[in-house]
Amino acid sequence: MKDPLLARRAMVEEQIAARGIKDQRVLNAFLEVPRHRFVEEYLKYKAYDDYPLSIGYGQTISQPYMVAIMTEALAPKPMDRILEIGTGSGYQAAVLSRLCSTVYSLERISTLASRARKVHDELGYFNIHIRVGDGTLGLPQEAPYDGIIVTAGAPHVPGALIEQLRDEGRLLIPVGDQSIQDLKRYTKTGEGVREESLGGCRFVKLIGKNGWSD
Ligand code: SAH
Repeated sequence: MKDPLLARRAMVEEQIAARGIKDQRVLNAFLEVPRHRFVEEYLKYKAYDDYPLSIGYGQTISQPYMVAIMTEALAPKPMDRILEIGTGSGYQAAVLSRLCSTVYSLERISTLASRARKVHDELGYFNIHIRVGDGTLGLPQEAPYDGIIVTAGAPHVPGALIEQLRDEGRLLIPVGDQSIQDLKRYTKTGEGVREESLGGCRFVKLIGKNGWSD
């Protein structure tokens, strides 16, 4: 692999900034987090390329640009507490941990959860708390959240996730069928919940009580 810092700079300039991600805090987080640490050894040379990569168990680490779109759309602020559903490699959680105060992340596959936890510990990202469980139920014991980000494709929006948002909180979630989804942003307001569509995307299945069956 070439120098990871150079690879990271190229990734940020060519794949993320060039496509319109402007938030400097977000760009800095992508420069900081060593993405190659979140993929297996045999894929490290591809870690900064412009596509998703396998992380085993039929799951993937998302394309860098998709992580950037979701991060910018979630708009995490320094004091925010964020919940992620679908830890996977732990990369998205790592990026968020640079931008907010606390990240909770839920993963249903315990091996992936422990692998991600180990990388976060090695990198000193101590404000990330990974739990094993069904994210379609959210994580009520730590609610409410300023933002919730779902990194797997859902057939519909699990009600628990809207409930666990605080006022002005944002929920980002890909909703659709198993091959293509629409990235949705729901914002809780005094009057109700505002829905926006941010474009097409393709994620692995959200599996759980209020998601797809296994
Ligand atoms: N955010 C990840 C990529 C996620 S891939 C990253 O940065 O690497 C989607 C992940 O969601 C998979 O690891 C999958 O096991 C997990 N997942 C699917 N359904 C889930 C559920 N109901 N609860 C928690 N995790 C779930």
